[in-house]
Amino acid sequence: MTESFVETRAVEAERSWVPTDGVLLEVDQLQVEFRTKEGVAHAINGVSFDLREGETLAILGESGSGKSVTAQAIMGILDTPPGYVTGGEVRYCGTDLLSQDEEIRRSVRGAEIAMVFQDALSALNPVFPVGWQIAEMFRKHRGMNRADSLEQAVRLMERVQIPGARQRVKAFPHQFSGGMRQRIMIAMSIALDPAILIADEPTTALDVTVQAQIMQLLAELQAERKMGLILITHDLGVVADVADRIAVMYAGKIVESAEVFELYAQPQHPYTKGLLESIPRLDQKGQDLAAIGGLPPNLMHIPDGCAFHPRCKYAQDICREEPAPLLRQLGKSRHSACHFAEDLAVAEPTNSELADTTQQGRELR
Ligand code: SF4
Repeated sequence: MTESFVETRAVEAERSWVPTDGVLLEVDQLQVEFRTKEGVAHAINGVSFDLREGETLAILGESGSGKSVTAQAIMGILDTPPGYVTGGEVRYCGTDLLSQDEEIRRSVRGAEIAMVFQDALSALNPVFPVGWQIAEMFRKHRGMNRADSLEQAVRLMERVQIPGARQRVKAFPHQFSGGMRQRIMIAMSIALDPAILIADEPTTALDVTVQAQIMQLLAELQAERKMGLILITHDLGVVADVADRIAVMYAGKIVESAEVFELYAQPQHPYTKGLLESIPRLDQKGQDLAAIGGLPPNLMHIPDGCAFHPRCKYAQDICREEPAPLLRQLGKSRHSACHFAEDLAVAEPTNSELADTTQQGRELR
């Protein structure tokens, strides 16, 4: 732990929100829809999960599966109109945020639950120096004066490993590389020492080497601060290094969730299985990369029955004719929303090699 980190945390405010039995966040049957001229898009259709202190939950799925909308609903930054939360609860430390007034929601945003966005260049203000933007968090929320808040900004920039932080505190966002801008965003997001950090595709716009550095930084910060981390991504390779649990989303629902190595070893939903099979592997040189056929559904016209059935090679009549399968518990940490989850576990070989390699790689870091 660096000296600057200790000093930065010395400004931490007394926490007024206290988790119940270590549970920070409970999302319960969340529903969101977008009302447009073309019709109503059912973006989130009963999403439930929880997050404990110090835990990393990865939310995974293709574009349009509802990952980012879930994050926006938790943060209270959904564009309304056209987006509306139409049901469910988002409980932070036991209190439903959705039923609180905007003043309370504003006090939670940033200080209790913070977010790192995918595109740091659009999220940062181009006309203010980066140090000024970080310092503003301390000025606004901690009542610090200009000099002290700027000093805290320098220390945070040092903590997120920006070389020459003291000299570059007055530089503008466009004067930094994409990776460095993402570090600045991360510095801003942890400035108020939030209990939860939501990172929405934080490495998508970065090259592979920088991706690994940013993920490593997020993992370090999470461990130091015992934050709950929600990592939103479409990349199973990214989550392997850091996640404790994975929730896989499809058509606005969680279709499978499990502890990370359990999920890698034996997916029990055909969609998760398809995602895992589409990861390039060194031990399968020369073989065609498997892909999930078809396209994600139009959220204005989600297929009846299981929403995945038009793309599912295991689909039977029941998948088309019966109501959508519910997410049900199969093991200690495993839940799946497939009629044939148990059969899939019996019929398919396990990916134990993939899970072992992933686990070994993580232990080496
Ligand atoms: Fe495939 Fe049927 Fe399972 Fe849906 S319920 S994932 S269509 S097998």
